[in-house]
Amino acid sequence: MQDTKGVDAGLLQSRYRLTKQRAAILRALEDGRHLSAETILERVRAQLPGVSLGTIYRTLDILRSIGLVQIFSHAGAAAKYEAALEKHHHLVCTQCGEVTNVNVSEALTLSQTIAHEHGFDDVDCALVVTGRCARCADVPATASG
Ligand SMILES: [Zn+2]
Ligand SMILES: [Zn+2]
Repeated sequence: MQDTKGVDAGLLQSRYRLTKQRAAILRALEDGRHLSAETILERVRAQLPGVSLGTIYRTLDILRSIGLVQIFSHAGAAAKYEAALEKHHHLVCTQCGEVTNVNVSEALTLSQTIAHEHGFDDVDCALVVTGRCARCADVPATASG
């Protein structure tokens, strides 16, 4: 198991000849975090002040169709977006909501075994592991700040 890194927006911009809006969204996501469309809007507006939330959603859809952005939603929470190229799984802290990318090479093998037993093909698997992250576990429940 291994953390996956964010993407290099500059590199992708030259490779895919991205428009200003697409490049700005990738830069907003460059730190590898999982952000809501609203948070992406705030970050993009620092570079392109006139951008609307509708444009953010449309541009995210395009970036998803190219395969540069992935969407993650869990337990009814608002969808979060990330700039990631590789298929990966997620660790979610139930206390602070932090989402961490992890690679679990065994997950697909196991899913394929289960799916084939039930006659499924075209198998995919999205693993979400929930728990309390190390940072939250360190903080006593009574502490503030
Ligand atoms: Zn946490
Ligand atoms: Zn992710």
